[in-house]
Amino acid sequence: MTEKKSKYAYNKKSAWDIFNDGQIKKAFDFAEEYKNFLNNAKTEREAVQKIKEFAKKHKKRVFLNKQSGAAIVIPGKKPISEGVHIVISHVDSPRLDLKQVPLFEDSDSNLALFETHYYGGIKKFQWLTIPLALHGVIVKKDGTKLTFALGEDENDPVFSVPDILPHLSHEVQDTKKMDDAIKGESLDIIVGSRPVKGDAKEKIKTAILDKLHKDYGIIEEDFISAELEAVPAFKARDMGFDKSLVGAYGQDDKSCVFAALNAITDLKDPEYAAISLFVDKEEIGSEGATSAQAVTFLRSIIKELDPKVDVDGVMLKSKVLSADVDAAVTPNYTEVFELKNASSLGKGISMSKYTGHGGKYSANDASAEYVAEIRTMLNREKIPWQTGELGKVDKGGGGTVAKYFSRLGMEVVDLGPPVLCMHSPFEVTSKVDIYSSYLAYHAFLKS
Ligand code: MN
Ligand code: MN
Repeated sequence: MTEKKSKYAYNKKSAWDIFNDGQIKKAFDFAEEYKNFLNNAKTEREAVQKIKEFAKKHKKRVFLNKQSGAAIVIPGKKPISEGVHIVISHVDSPRLDLKQVPLFEDSDSNLALFETHYYGGIKKFQWLTIPLALHGVIVKKDGTKLTFALGEDENDPVFSVPDILPHLSHEVQDTKKMDDAIKGESLDIIVGSRPVKGDAKEKIKTAILDKLHKDYGIIEEDFISAELEAVPAFKARDMGFDKSLVGAYGQDDKSCVFAALNAITDLKDPEYAAISLFVDKEEIGSEGATSAQAVTFLRSIIKELDPKVDVDGVMLKSKVLSADVDAAVTPNYTEVFELKNASSLGKGISMSKYTGHGGKYSANDASAEYVAEIRTMLNREKIPWQTGELGKVDKGGGGTVAKYFSRLGMEVVDLGPPVLCMHSPFEVTSKVDIYSSYLAYHAFLKS
């Protein structure tokens, strides 16, 4: 006997059912450009560089906030005093940052290594024994800037954090709590092994310094004024026999960055002034001059668009989508999700009314009225969407930039694609969810 669901019941529909064949083809085409973007925007600085190029190509007005913040702005039919529509995404992703004095020689293992301090919430074991590329900038003492990306070309060398072999891991790892098994301080990256000839002290370190000076003209002190990041060296790939998924580093939050970037550059004649805002430092709490908490950047843009306008008044009338990824239901670990409310791959963009942890603590809890407005828009435009939340009550949690804008008096809700294996070196998304995100941001900015 089959039971029939009430016709009044809420059903999360599959994006694969909602989209017609033409739309699915578009989603796959969009994913090709998306993978290309991911490969060329692994760091926040590279992402901002791509945003700048993209805006120029599409003849859109772009504002830059130092090295790692940006905004693309399109004037609306209504005056700016009526408020603006903003989609905010973040350009940074978890990774291993080099320390300021990174290079050392380990005489026991006969290797030269770089010290790191991980950036953002990572599961440390995932970052061992994978090929890493080094990206970033080194500012020399004369102020000249060296932009660096080594490990991406097939002929480039790569780097890697070593791990102990299973034969010897029993005492030092296997019997420990996972949290204690790998120490943050031990995430050192192998950078060389060939010593200089003769009797010098630290012969491998000396050889590496010689090589760095020869190739890049840098001295050891230059690392102090550098931002070098070790990121997975592999490229974004299709995943699954059906190629329905994208596996890649940095999809939190470059999936939203790419969707928002395309949404605003494709935009024509929006009702309200549309802003796609790109911020840095989300993964370490949105501190810093290029982060979501540095609202002065947004204020200066509004002021530039209309010098006479009351900026606080504009903020109070503005509407925001916090474009950040959501946790997708994960096979074998479904017990940490409450499945009625969690998002899963392939059901479209995910809307989280609130984030935070334990009792909605520290969350932007969007108003029912605003959620209704966004829900109605998504349904009207036939964009696949679902609800999401970051795990079962009291199982964990997390935050987004939503609260930093809601406290300025703006309406804000979180809207972004679900991601599997979030913060891992190889995150997984569904092509139809990424395309749904593009459609959702576009519809919002247009309205
Ligand atoms: Mn994020
Ligand atoms: Mn994140």
